[in-house]
Amino acid sequence: MMSFQLKLTNEQYLLYLEAFMKKLEKEKDYITQLDSVTGDGDHWVNMDMGFRKLIDQKSDLEAVTFGEMFKKIGMTIMSTVGGSSGVLYGSGYIRAAQTVGDLQELDAAKLADMLQAFLNAIMERGKAKPGDKTMIDTLHGGVESMRQKLAENAGDAEVLRALKSGALAGMESTKEMEAAKGRAYYQTNKGVGNLDPGAVTMYYQIEALVDVLMSDQR
Ligand code: ADP
Ligand code: MG
Repeated sequence: MMSFQLKLTNEQYLLYLEAFMKKLEKEKDYITQLDSVTGDGDHWVNMDMGFRKLIDQKSDLEAVTFGEMFKKIGMTIMSTVGGSSGVLYGSGYIRAAQTVGDLQELDAAKLADMLQAFLNAIMERGKAKPGDKTMIDTLHGGVESMRQKLAENAGDAEVLRALKSGALAGMESTKEMEAAKGRAYYQTNKGVGNLDPGAVTMYYQIEALVDVLMSDQR
């Protein structure tokens, strides 16, 4: 049996955006409720607006390099999404664009570099770090597990599974955290006992990306 080789194309990236959007639609009430408890209740609306716009502009994202694609995505999100998440995702995508440049396909190592750049930009822009109860915890958990598997020379399928399970653990870890950033910081209990909504939507993205890539095993 041929072992699975990850080759992320921009066509697959568009499939991923659609898969994420589908999941987001399904979880509207759940995400809104999470952000109502720990924030101001608009996180779902913010994400929905931005990613819907991306799907509408899908044809602009086809057949371009990853650098151009991520730059367009970043600019669209930045100009469409209100709230912290717009600026954070926008910064992440624009930094990721520089990392992937004019590549047409990303292998596992390049995907890890791209996610790391995305994470670094969000941490810098939000002046936040892992443990602050934000979307960062999910992404950081995923990237760390993924890098560990890459360092062990694991196969691509195992690397992707590590990305997903690390992200899930990162998301779950936000439940008992006290918020150090974002609106939950201003709650009397600092959000303890609730998952961070941004950590959950970040997990949905990583889950959708991994699922699209794994379903395409050739
Ligand atoms: P807002 O907080 O402005 O209403 P959203 O509701 O769209 O924006 O997004 C809230 C999410 O953004 C939080 O759940 C958290 O994951 C993330 N977040 C908030 N502030 C920061 C920050 N400084 N750094 C990283 N992520 C943050
Ligand atoms: Mg909000």
